[in-house]
Amino acid sequence: MNRTPTAKDIIRPDIQALSAYHVPDARGFVKLDAMENPHRLPEHLKLELAARLAEAALNLYPDPHAEDVKTGLRRAFKLPESQSIILGNGSDELIQTVLQAINSDDAVVMGLEPSFVMYKMISQFNRLRYVGVPLTANFELDIRATLAAIETHQPKLIFLAYPNNPTGGLFNRADIEAILLAAPGLVVVDEAYQPFAGGATLADALPHYPNLVVMRTVSKLGLAGLRLGYLIGDAAWINEFDKLRLPYNINVLSQAAAVFMFEHVSVLLAQADQIVAERTPLAAGLAALPSVEVFKSEANFILIRTPHAEAAFAYLLENRILIKALFNGNPLLKHCLRITVGTSSENTLVLATLTDFFARVASTQKA
Ligand SMILES: *Cc1c(COP(=O)(O)O)cnc(C)c1O
Repeated sequence: MNRTPTAKDIIRPDIQALSAYHVPDARGFVKLDAMENPHRLPEHLKLELAARLAEAALNLYPDPHAEDVKTGLRRAFKLPESQSIILGNGSDELIQTVLQAINSDDAVVMGLEPSFVMYKMISQFNRLRYVGVPLTANFELDIRATLAAIETHQPKLIFLAYPNNPTGGLFNRADIEAILLAAPGLVVVDEAYQPFAGGATLADALPHYPNLVVMRTVSKLGLAGLRLGYLIGDAAWINEFDKLRLPYNINVLSQAAAVFMFEHVSVLLAQADQIVAERTPLAAGLAALPSVEVFKSEANFILIRTPHAEAAFAYLLENRILIKALFNGNPLLKHCLRITVGTSSENTLVLATLTDFFARVASTQKA
């Protein structure tokens, strides 16, 4: 009877049934799968950053409130002074914090599908019921279905990614405001791709909607390695979330590097502009391929649909180019691939390789 307990006995069965979030090994690949900024810092900035990091007090715990980071953020991104800020070790951590804060037996979390997978995944970790409202076949927000689902399920929390990942588009601002008015709970507008969206943001709406908070990250702006996300909103929300934040969640090196980078934010913003400029010829090149449908992007990636998605993905892999395969997930994404906008030469390479692939498809079809 005194059998030693095993993980099987102890770990929640629903956790045992999950599989871990898979990140493919990309070593040696042209990496266009994860919306990273492909540009490195100029040499002189690398050296200045190194000097700054060398002075960081690794022997001490970090500033628990990371006040210098918040001040730098406010200045660099002109955040409204009236709003409070909470920082996360990536915005993924903030998604977790918000979900923990609303966790109760009857709470429902709502998202649009397809969207960022973490909303649903972390809801499951917290045993929260997640309701996904499908987008239309062309990945637009179905406002009638969404309002009806809000009425039926009374979600405590709604996630909206603006622009949306993995589809790349911006939903109608009027639809988002209609959701804010109808929502019986908190609405998190996730602006991870804000630097590429031509100024589109809901931040200006924060004073008008007491149930809105805006989430952002520096990951897509060129600092994915730092792990720094933030949530801005009324202190009434932020102070509650702050109670759940682990005390030293932003480490000393991340704080020092973030403060430095915010002093030089123009470099990052210029890189983002360059990525936006590169997006246009990449989209045009993809649209010129046979049987490829390209969806309009306001982000640093492009979603495409082609009946040859699986084979195209495999062909790119053979050629050491990694993009994101979406055809195994949401049924609306059957035949879909997501390509991060890379450097000019990376974009040229992915286009040339896909051109090759479609030429092969055409020749086998003739044969
Ligand atoms: C990439 C991404 C994030 C995650 O950002 P991190 O700060 O790197 O955790 C959040 N939301 C969306 C929509 C994303 O695409």
